[in-house]
Amino acid sequence: MPELPEVETVRRGLAPALEGCRIRLATQRRANLRYPLPDRFAERLTGRLVERLDRRAKYILARLDSGEVLLIHLGMSGRFTIHPPEGGEAAPGQFHHATPESGAGTGKHDHIIFDMEDGTRIVYSDHRRFGFMDLIVEADLDANPHLASLGPEPLGNEFSAFTLSERLRGRRAPIKAALLDQRTVAGLGNIYVCEALFRAGVSPNRSASSVAGPQRSERLARAIREVLNEALAAGGSTLRDYAHTDGELGYFQHSFAVYDREGDACSKPGCGGTVKRIVQSGRSTFYCPRCQK
Ligand SMILES: [Zn+2]
Repeated sequence: MPELPEVETVRRGLAPALEGCRIRLATQRRANLRYPLPDRFAERLTGRLVERLDRRAKYILARLDSGEVLLIHLGMSGRFTIHPPEGGEAAPGQFHHATPESGAGTGKHDHIIFDMEDGTRIVYSDHRRFGFMDLIVEADLDANPHLASLGPEPLGNEFSAFTLSERLRGRRAPIKAALLDQRTVAGLGNIYVCEALFRAGVSPNRSASSVAGPQRSERLARAIREVLNEALAAGGSTLRDYAHTDGELGYFQHSFAVYDREGDACSKPGCGGTVKRIVQSGRSTFYCPRCQK
């Protein structure tokens, strides 16, 4: 499941092909993804200029010259591929196939296609169809149910030890659950929550309120930013490395310190502990019981 760094990497990969570009023709192959697509979806996108591509939490927001915003959520398996026009040069940061495929976008799971004015074809495919798209009037964006209750962006200026502490205070839920709650901080999922708690030396079993003190909240806020920034750097190097991407955006190899490392020796120097897996609210948590307190 893509989390903030993967979604941001997709956004950065799409930006050169979308920002400032006009959609010559939008095509929808189905009436629904996870949810029904809005009325006349393809028609409302066709002819529109994409003024800016933003991200909020795990959503990509394409701001259109019609005053509407295309909201995109990748779900579990949503993927974008960019196919430049035949003979076209890919700009730095833009993806391309070594030999442009004819027939790109005709696969069984290719659901939405954007043919841009410059001949670039952008294909959204999603074999499990947990992703979704919506069109929202820009003025209504903040009130949209998907966006309204989201907490601060962890890499934005509004996020700090203080704002984190305020959102943890008085909550009896385990810190793991509190961080997965998108109202606490936006964009974190299971992987980066495990990694941030490990980095901060905070046990996932501890109550959220017990992390609200100045020292732990400072350590945790810093760890959250660090693990996200390192993952973004890994995503960025994938963006520059065409050979390993096959034109597909956002799914990059990244090594984790605890996630999916049950039984491995703890990587903290001098710890000597072993990574353990427990289940919290139905989801796996990986942590080192020795150095995470
Ligand atoms: Zn350890």
